Amino acid sequence: MASPATLSDIVTAFLDVVHDRLMHDRRGDVADYIPELAAVDPDLFGIALCGLNGRVYESGDTDHAFTIQSVSKPFVYSLALDDIGMDAVHQRVGAEPSGEAFNSVKLEPSTGRPPNPMVNAGAIVTTALVAGETAADRFDRIRNRLGAFAGRELDMDIAVYESEQESGDRNRALAYLMRSAGSLIASVDETLDVYFRQCSLLVTSRDLAVMAATLANGGVNPITGVRVTSSETCQHVMTIMATCGMYDYAGEWLLRAGLPAKSGVAGGLVAASPGEFGLGLYSPRLDHSGSSVRSVAAAQRLAKRFGLHILHRPLTLSAAEVASATDELEQGLGATQDAAAAQLLQDNADSLAVWRLRGYIDFDGAERLLLDIDAWLDERPGDADEPAAIVLDLTEVTQLQSVAVWMLAALATWCGERGLRVAAIDPQGRSLGVAGLSHAADFDAAIQETEFSAD
Ligand code: GLN
Repeated sequence: MASPATLSDIVTAFLDVVHDRLMHDRRGDVADYIPELAAVDPDLFGIALCGLNGRVYESGDTDHAFTIQSVSKPFVYSLALDDIGMDAVHQRVGAEPSGEAFNSVKLEPSTGRPPNPMVNAGAIVTTALVAGETAADRFDRIRNRLGAFAGRELDMDIAVYESEQESGDRNRALAYLMRSAGSLIASVDETLDVYFRQCSLLVTSRDLAVMAATLANGGVNPITGVRVTSSETCQHVMTIMATCGMYDYAGEWLLRAGLPAKSGVAGGLVAASPGEFGLGLYSPRLDHSGSSVRSVAAAQRLAKRFGLHILHRPLTLSAAEVASATDELEQGLGATQDAAAAQLLQDNADSLAVWRLRGYIDFDGAERLLLDIDAWLDERPGDADEPAAIVLDLTEVTQLQSVAVWMLAALATWCGERGLRVAAIDPQGRSLGVAGLSHAADFDAAIQETEFSAD
């Protein structure tokens, strides 16, 4: 693998590794219930990751547009929740994993409710619960909501919409059944028209990553900065995704990937890592539950490698902080004993930099560090002859999540390949497990480690 051009490219390089490994997996079949889906190139494969500061990392066919299909369901559910509230929504649709296929006809015997908003029956009900004077208003509001999550206006694939209408008898049957059971109150034809349109909206895996990142970011789109929904709604949506998003594979998915996710029959998959990032994946061949084989495998690899399972959380959390010590010193935060360090940093601002990391460092904290160091390296004068030295002050780190351990180790390798020197200050001498990063007891020792010699 070629060494990444910039530090933040190490994330892309990792996505490339996963992409290349799974590229040869040709298991599964593309959906063929409509001609438009059957005609797709089955080898397309895109992986995108959007961090909470809006940086998107991409590997493969991340610009290829496909229909969102069932991946629309959690986002439409968010709109229904915001429009009429959780209690009113769940009067008409349950919140239990069905253990059945996405198009199952099973309704709750006592109430007539569909099991949850992620299977077709439940999604048809949530679509009907979205506020709007007419079906056209409702669809406009749905399109705008999904667009706000993606950070751009979404177009509809007319041919797919028409085919969905033509082949949609099972969904129509579900809707009639729910009308007779009292869980669907609106008109069957109008509701299905909106539902088929919503399924036919065109997205890329990059869009899906941004949509998932907006959920992971508590409802604020990390690229546009627009608040799309409340953090409470995001929590409800991600709960239902975690328990029901992968249909009859939901339990095993949660066990193996541990992330709220939703798949669609065109091959798209969103997965959100709360407080960290969003993933958008696409590959058209599907498994028996109707989810993309490669997307599922890629998300599981990322989740495992990055230690992302939502139940894998330290018992005590403190917010991550990543700050350049030079900035802190400039703001007058340096203690007296830092005076010599401050002087050294000021005199050698182009070749020596210190970052202080505090609290629980996860993907988001480690990513901020990489982006900060990239920016600092970018600003260095091209003719600087002194190899740069970077000190990471880990004194106040309470925990490094496994993804952060991996990212810091990759940082150390990347710097080593370029003759840049990195050392960590860690007076407690804890083994934080970062390969290739030398540890020093204090600032002076760390400077010595980097073999930095002041002018
Ligand atoms: N349009 C499809 C349907 O309603 C969506 C299903 C899916 O993506 N699982 O049948």
